[in-house]
Amino acid sequence: MRQSQLFTKTRKEAPKDEVSKNAQLLVRAGYIHKEMAGVYDLLPLGLRVIDKIRNIIREEMNGLGAQEVSLSALQDPALWEATDRWDDEKIDVWFKTTLKNGTELGLGCTHEEPMANMLKNHISSYRDLPRYTYQFQTKFRNELRAKSGIMRGREFLMKDMYSFNRTEEELEKFYTDAGVAYENVFRRVGLGDITYLTFASGGMFSKFSHEFQTVSEAGEDIIYIDTEKRIAVNKEVYKDDILFDLGLEKGKLVEAKAIEVGNIFKYGTRYSVPLGLTFKDEEGNEKPVIMGAYGIGLGRVMGTVVEMLADEKGIVWPESIAPFAVHLVELSQGDATIRENADALYEDLKSAGIETLYDDRDLRAGEKFADADLLGIPYRIIVGKSTTNEMIEVVRRKDSEKRTVSKESLLSGSYGF
Ligand code: ATP
Ligand code: MG
Repeated sequence: MRQSQLFTKTRKEAPKDEVSKNAQLLVRAGYIHKEMAGVYDLLPLGLRVIDKIRNIIREEMNGLGAQEVSLSALQDPALWEATDRWDDEKIDVWFKTTLKNGTELGLGCTHEEPMANMLKNHISSYRDLPRYTYQFQTKFRNELRAKSGIMRGREFLMKDMYSFNRTEEELEKFYTDAGVAYENVFRRVGLGDITYLTFASGGMFSKFSHEFQTVSEAGEDIIYIDTEKRIAVNKEVYKDDILFDLGLEKGKLVEAKAIEVGNIFKYGTRYSVPLGLTFKDEEGNEKPVIMGAYGIGLGRVMGTVVEMLADEKGIVWPESIAPFAVHLVELSQGDATIRENADALYEDLKSAGIETLYDDRDLRAGEKFADADLLGIPYRIIVGKSTTNEMIEVVRRKDSEKRTVSKESLLSGSYGF
């Protein structure tokens, strides 16, 4: 993409009311637009990042044998009354609305109820199970505090997966596999080393739910980490008897602030019983389906990566979720030959399938470099007076390391690092 055609502009200042680092940088770099507190729009660059995250998650969920769906955000109160979750006392983040005729509707804050209800039409026998469904879907939550930028939106994109099993053992196996898939996701988006499987409350059926917590000063949670075992416990379950049960020693645990990037729950029959989601087993007995749920916030992940990897100059994307792999910057200042060289290299990179943002704008070098630093694209190629056509210098954003590579190897996607 030619940067001269990109409608978004970078800016020196973030909105005055924006206190989070992730949103300050993402707004300044033109990835997102702030509508109001807790409400953000995705601009072209931001959407590219979200799509990369979405694809990584999609690959991992498909790998578990889950099938992608997309449920409506408009929800029928009757389902939530059945599970006793319609009351604002029970779910304090509800956004509700009314039809012209006065009927109330919910704006989905999660989808256990409609997902289980929908599956009643498709599950009747043990032969129809297990089933796993997931979606990337907008959630609405009337969050009290929205000071964490895109990490806590009042409208946000969540990947929510639901499991439907015949037995506890079957759920247990899937739950373990889902945990591994989650680890893969967080490793692939660049958060692997600093994200811990964390024991938390909220298991309705088992003692715990599990969260994936990324250690960060910007986090809203407190966790206690066993760095050797690479597991942690959330403050809410940090109690002597629980630590004992988990084989953890208080003295070895390190307290840290952390961001919950994902979580997994075993529900058992909590939703299937009130909603009547049942199946006939091999003996013909009617049994409730055993459920679980598995969430990841895409904006939460994107914001966390910005928080963790950015430096004083701006954003630093890992290659896996960067909007472009290469930032090609021409410094022609009106020199036709340099411009032609840069144009030619851009065409070559495009033909080679390398995602390239081409800074072809008529600006001073200093401005172009400052923008490139802010945008955080992993590899930068500068075309200037001394650039030859065959050997090309690549600068890595994260540490300013340089490598010179042949054009041939560059076009094969190897940047010399
Ligand atoms: P939190 O404790 O941070 O409010 P939660 O327990 O309400 O999270 P879930 O309802 O289980 O979270 O949602 C699943 C995932 O969705 C979370 O792990 C997180 O990644 C993401 N998420 C939750 N709330 C938000 C939000 N307001 N904005 C963006 N992402 C969110
Ligand atoms: Mg919440």
